[in-house]
Amino acid sequence: MLDADFFRRWMTATAASVDREADRLTALDSPIGDADHGSNLRRGFTAVTVALEKETPATPGAVLVLAGSRLISTVGGAAGPLYGTLLRRTGKALGDTAEVDAAGFAEALRVGVAAVMQLGGAAPGDKTMIDALVPAVDALPDGFRAARAAAEQGAEATTPLQARKGRASYLGERSIGHQDPGATSAALLIAALAEADGERGTGE
Ligand code: ADP
Ligand code: MG
Repeated sequence: MLDADFFRRWMTATAASVDREADRLTALDSPIGDADHGSNLRRGFTAVTVALEKETPATPGAVLVLAGSRLISTVGGAAGPLYGTLLRRTGKALGDTAEVDAAGFAEALRVGVAAVMQLGGAAPGDKTMIDALVPAVDALPDGFRAARAAAEQGAEATTPLQARKGRASYLGERSIGHQDPGATSAALLIAALAEADGERGTGE
């Protein structure tokens, strides 16, 4: 079972990984964006970590709603509201239960990803974070490691795509040949699940 502590570990592991990879995320956002994705997310997830230390929310849902709210209020640009919505809507779907099983979490994350698709209007294949998130949600019933592999594959598969949403879409065909920064950071978020779960990585 996954408790509030697990979800706090998920957010702090994501923050650490975003911090380590910030330069790479910004480098990816430079040919097809405005070179701010790493710094945007670093600022956001640092604020998430600080808020979670101060407020220690008691349930999985409350952890994710707080984290999402902090992202929305601290991250300018497209990614803040989109990641904020992902976490807030996933958290709301979890309700006020103290523990959730792997299947319940997979279902809630699917609700969160659907909310991101509705907010941003992106579908799979548009070269956005959705290209990592949808395969991750599909693989989640097979465990956190399977979800991580699926998200990483999904992020890599954005390279040959032409962007149809976000800043990169302004480049038209020139967006082809570059990995999407948001799909790359989404893979970091999903990879942090296995880290939060420790050695097992099973989500059980
Ligand atoms: P901005 O584009 O405002 O500078 P960021 O650089 O932080 O914001 O984030 C860019 C990432 O956001 C993109 O790589 C893409 O994955 C994601 N993104 C942009 N627009 C959308 C959208 N409409 N739906 C889903 N994801 C999007
Ligand atoms: Mg940008």
